[in-house]
Amino acid sequence: MHEYGIAKGIIDTVLAEAEKHEAKKIKSIELLIGEFNNIVADALVLNVEMLAHGTAAQGVKLDIKRQPLRVKCAACGKQGEPKEALVFVCPFCDSMAVEITGGKALNIVSIEVE
Ligand SMILES: [Zn+2]
Repeated sequence: MHEYGIAKGIIDTVLAEAEKHEAKKIKSIELLIGEFNNIVADALVLNVEMLAHGTAAQGVKLDIKRQPLRVKCAACGKQGEPKEALVFVCPFCDSMAVEITGGKALNIVSIEVE
């Protein structure tokens, strides 16, 4: 259940930001999450809601943007998205000599406060 730890990190960060800016309420959080992190969005939202309860972030809206997985193939040199999630095989030549070049993001893009 690694969504809990991620949700905790998000809430801690946004509450610290809100305090710094003397914001009373956190309205929404925009997140960029790479497919590599294998995060279940619903579980993340549930954990954020739970952790936000009774804080300035209570009722916060999560806007989750997905970053697709990208691999670069050492055999054919092409870059693309694997055919299957979390199966790191070149979509062009089926080589397993691939390097992950995208999809690892786990960022808070913006926070909307009041
Ligand atoms: Zn290839």
